[in-house]
Amino acid sequence: MPSKLETPNSQLLYRGRFAPSPTGPLHFGSLLAALASCLEARRRGGQWLVRMEDIDPPREVAGAADLILRTLERYGFEWDGAVMFQSRRDEAYRAALDELRRTGALYACRCSRRETLEAAAAANLAPGIYPGTCRGAGHALAGAGALRVRTDGVTTTFADRLQGPQRQDVEREVGDFVVRRADGLWAYQLAVVVDDAAQGITDIVRGSDLLDSTPRQLHLQHLLGLPTPGYLHLPVAVNAAGEKLSKQTYAPALPMDDPLPPLWQALAFLGQRPPAELLEGDIAALWRWAVAHWDARAIPVARALREP
Ligand code: GLU
Repeated sequence: MPSKLETPNSQLLYRGRFAPSPTGPLHFGSLLAALASCLEARRRGGQWLVRMEDIDPPREVAGAADLILRTLERYGFEWDGAVMFQSRRDEAYRAALDELRRTGALYACRCSRRETLEAAAAANLAPGIYPGTCRGAGHALAGAGALRVRTDGVTTTFADRLQGPQRQDVEREVGDFVVRRADGLWAYQLAVVVDDAAQGITDIVRGSDLLDSTPRQLHLQHLLGLPTPGYLHLPVAVNAAGEKLSKQTYAPALPMDDPLPPLWQALAFLGQRPPAELLEGDIAALWRWAVAHWDARAIPVARALREP
């Protein structure tokens, strides 16, 4: 990795990132996040990094990480520095866990999934919201069970660059959340916060499906003494049934043979006005136009929009 990337959290330079999970090939929805994060970084004269979020082997598909990188290349993306792989970041996550323990915010939870659901119902909380049953139990951190972070009294506000002011009562709306799973795997919330800081990311551009994860990430940044980047959450593409494009909704993989139409459609989806002639040219010409004309203020202010 070039030495300029080794100074984390430099506020001098805009640094954005794209952080795919290798659970399948890239689809139109992932292209939106890749393209918007990259163009915003280029437009600001900054850097754009790629991080492979391969921390959940049971959900991963063999060869997907490689395919994602080849697809990005085929679509004309150029990233700065080496790709960071979360599967190699165990030591950093362990150090963050130690730090969380030091703050007193960490505790071990022995509740089964069923007990969690029952406790949520008994506390009049929506399913999936953990009411903090094990908070005071004093289970050994090194023993069995998941590790959670306390959220009592945590209400988070932040201004999203596109979606506007956000506020979440984390305890009521999410509950004490898992940072290391009972199966020993790291939770996305912890890994993303540690790595955004380690890579010196100043600005995050990603889909609005992650908007309600952001307060948890802000809470962890606060506990860990890490800087909080700027956030811009894009409208996500939904299909005719109103479902977010994803592997679960059978979103088709981006075609490798002809990247121009998806790139052009992604620009249009993001409120840019790519001229039709770009469809007749080559990828380099489309990228030149996109970098020169990219305007984040033109992105539609919406959580979701129909796919083209
Ligand atoms: N890896 C996450 C995903 O593919 C995105 C993480 C992020 O952008 O913060 O949904």
